[in-house]
Amino acid sequence: MIRKTRLYTPGPTPLLPAAQFAMAAADIHHRTAEFRTLFQKVLAQLKVFVGTKNDVLLLSSSGTGAMEAAVTNLTSPGDRVLVLTAGKFGERWTGLVKAFGCEPDVVTAPYGQTFNLAQIRAALKPEHKAVFVQATETSTAVRHDIEAIAKLIKEANSQALLIVDGITGLGTTHFDVDGWGIDVLIGGSQKAVMIPPGLAYLSVSERAWAAMETTKNPRYYFDLRKERKNAVKGESAYTPAVALVAGLGAALDYIAGQAGGDLEKGRIALVNNAQVNAAATRAGLTALGFTLFAPTAPAAAATAVAVPEGMDSGAVVKALKSRFALVIANGQGEMQGKIFRVAHLGFFDYLDTVALLGAMEHIAKDTLKLPVVYGQAIEAAQRVYAEAAKQ
Ligand SMILES: *Cc1c(COP(=O)(O)O)cnc(C)c1O
Repeated sequence: MIRKTRLYTPGPTPLLPAAQFAMAAADIHHRTAEFRTLFQKVLAQLKVFVGTKNDVLLLSSSGTGAMEAAVTNLTSPGDRVLVLTAGKFGERWTGLVKAFGCEPDVVTAPYGQTFNLAQIRAALKPEHKAVFVQATETSTAVRHDIEAIAKLIKEANSQALLIVDGITGLGTTHFDVDGWGIDVLIGGSQKAVMIPPGLAYLSVSERAWAAMETTKNPRYYFDLRKERKNAVKGESAYTPAVALVAGLGAALDYIAGQAGGDLEKGRIALVNNAQVNAAATRAGLTALGFTLFAPTAPAAAATAVAVPEGMDSGAVVKALKSRFALVIANGQGEMQGKIFRVAHLGFFDYLDTVALLGAMEHIAKDTLKLPVVYGQAIEAAQRVYAEAAKQ
């Protein structure tokens, strides 16, 4: 039988056809009026997509490049910072701040859970220069409560900058960047914005710009002040990933098109889409007898599922690939073999969820030998969809 390749990984995610066409047509030089017009349009769209009045910059790198930029531009060697970590991407913050000479205090939550706010409150010290956290921890598919964390920092009268990795949070959760006081919010191109890897974007608050006047960590390629100066002219400091910028513009047009051309409403629709698909997936997989890995704070970006004790999640990943050309993600690090992860961020529709659950019924029955009744997972998802469609 024909098997179409289907990507359900939490980055890279499925590509939007309109963005692919725009990328193929982007045969333009980056120091031309044509490019400047495109770049300025995309930067303006990104501000709406992120939902902020702050500057939003676009970097030619994967998401980690923007994470590194946040550290190098906003810290100095010897700074005490607070890192909140609940998985592999939180651990990346710890590695990054240490690489640039900061002294991190670390609040952890077990894999599959979010933070205890009282623990953060107790750990936050007046000398902390910055707090680093994920909006959604993609390795465990957990959502963190950024609003509550921002509030707690304010209530403590802390001067710490709040630096949020929203790489899978953007487009899957609602943020009030300016209202909550998020100083830096980072996104990546291969996640909810439906284009290939290679671009990162980040919003930068006035407070963060002010901090950059005195911070001392070395930076060159990722010098945000240099990028800001160039962005005003519609350019980037170095040769940007021109084709990806064109693709991003087309993708943001598409997202706006979900709400009659209103990008802010389109972004809200995209978040709701991810939330309904995530809820339907959770219902379907639970109905098949799987256990959710993050039942208390599930992300809409992705769903992480534990396989029954003694079974290997890698077998599920492999079987989906070989039988249906359907690509999902295994667990990372210590979670490899124990969980699998399915994405909902970006260009996924409800019928993609139905397809996944249909395939999963076969794998659960044949590979994992679970007592499956065909239609069981899909029926549970249909109920979630029907309920959401009423609203
Ligand atoms: C994908 C992802 C990143 C960035 O990884 P890159 O490979 O550098 O793009 C960072 N944080 C989270 C939460 C992610 O999901």
